[in-house]
Amino acid sequence: MDRPALLWFRQDLRLADNPALQAVAGRPVLPLFVWDEAAAGPWGPGGAARWWLRHSLAALAADLAARGAPLLVLRGRAEILVPAMAEAVGAAEVHAGRLHEPWARERDGRIAEALEAARRRLRLWTSAVLREPPTVMSGSGKPYAVYTPFAKAVAAMGEPDPPLPAPDRLHPVPSPPAGESLEALGLYPVAGEPDWAREFPALWQPGEAGAQDRLRRFLAGPVAGYTTGRNDPGTEGTSGLSPHLRWGEISPRQVWHAVRQAQPGDLARSWPFLSEILWREFSYHLLWHRPEMPERALRERFRTFPWQPDAALLQAWQRGRTGYPIVDAGMRQLWRFGWMHNRVRMIAASLLVKHLLQPWQAGATWFWDTLVDADLASNSASWQWIAGSGTDAAPYFRVFNPVLQGEKFDPEGRYVRRFVPALAGLPDRYVHRPWEAPEEVRRAAGLALGRDYPRPVVEHAEGRARALAALRGLRGAA
Ligand code: FAD
Repeated sequence: MDRPALLWFRQDLRLADNPALQAVAGRPVLPLFVWDEAAAGPWGPGGAARWWLRHSLAALAADLAARGAPLLVLRGRAEILVPAMAEAVGAAEVHAGRLHEPWARERDGRIAEALEAARRRLRLWTSAVLREPPTVMSGSGKPYAVYTPFAKAVAAMGEPDPPLPAPDRLHPVPSPPAGESLEALGLYPVAGEPDWAREFPALWQPGEAGAQDRLRRFLAGPVAGYTTGRNDPGTEGTSGLSPHLRWGEISPRQVWHAVRQAQPGDLARSWPFLSEILWREFSYHLLWHRPEMPERALRERFRTFPWQPDAALLQAWQRGRTGYPIVDAGMRQLWRFGWMHNRVRMIAASLLVKHLLQPWQAGATWFWDTLVDADLASNSASWQWIAGSGTDAAPYFRVFNPVLQGEKFDPEGRYVRRFVPALAGLPDRYVHRPWEAPEEVRRAAGLALGRDYPRPVVEHAEGRARALAALRGLRGAA
């Protein structure tokens, strides 16, 4: 029989379309997960992502056990534990999906060296993206800095290979080492603290089966109306696949092919949705080529932007108390559901970096802790896009008006009423501008401004003027 292999699960918590798993088929295998909290520094999973991970690991462990090779869970430094486990079971190879985060790349490099010194091998497989970053370069051999030519280049490479099936059966190594229980990883909200995740289970089903379920639900309805549905935060118009993709419970290749099968023929039919998958892909490629992206502005001149850090303003934004209903609804949705609609993420992020002049890193950090889909590539790229400091960014001088944005994308206030019940009784015309409602209208709606809901922390025109002045100052300095 072949020599055993280690199958190291990281951010590809699935059995189907898993090239690392395919590579060990037929051999005795030790499936392994290492909770290596220190390795990622500040970019270890935040609170909401840990909740997700805990449940996703439980699902993966059950799926692996059902196929005959239970998951070994360890806690500690992967740099030590992975080579030690390879030695313990006599594995010549360690197989895993390739990661794109800078901290993971450095760590994997060190692990590969340690394994090589013992005549073993780390083999990384394409799992999180459609195409690995070095394979998508511009005509001049440089990475793409702008989305549209990048997306065209990926599309021109043709359809991705069809997804791989899940194995029916796995062969375990003869005497696997003992590991930790999932409880011992301490991934849940801390006992005694408010259970901010209490609504998550009703909304989300972490794990591969949950991911397939989401995909089916999306294909059975919203995909057909995605072009308009994706802009309506008050309905389920998008796929909700982001946390599943983030943990690799489903691959982008599986999603791509499923959508192509549901909408056969011209790629243009599915392009509105597939182009979002490619935004994710673009973010991963950017992170690969520009590993400083989570911390530093990609455009150099934005590194001296005169932010005005203010703890009270940041807190008002975090708690959904800015006085702008669409923003506050979004921030409250985020806290309750661990997720926020994309359109509202854009409006809320814009308010923070423009009207409130808070550094984009502060917003990204909050999202990192509260989003179940918090993903280093997509989060950093999106924040830099909003802040104007990304390689392909919305110009900083384009300042969203949060009232008009609310009225455009949530005209009947369905979304706002759901997440900001204090505004539920207002007529449509005032739901995005409660301070303009006459006193008797507010009274009839049972709303006392300043008590039940705040007035805007900064007036739109003033916030806009301040943001533009900051930008002009930056130009002068550049
Ligand atoms: P759908 O509309 O169904 O899209 C399908 C998939 O495409 C998503 O699941 C996601 O994987 C990908 N996608 C869609 N839009 C984008 C985008 N703009 N950038 C990158 N990928 C995209 N997405 C994350 O996955 N993790 C993050 O941490 C994250 N942070 C964000 C921060 C800000 C400030 C903004 C404006 C956007 C952020 N996004 C992030 C992108 C986007 O908001 C979410 O991917 C999307 O809302 C997820 O919902 P969905 O799965 O229903 O998306």
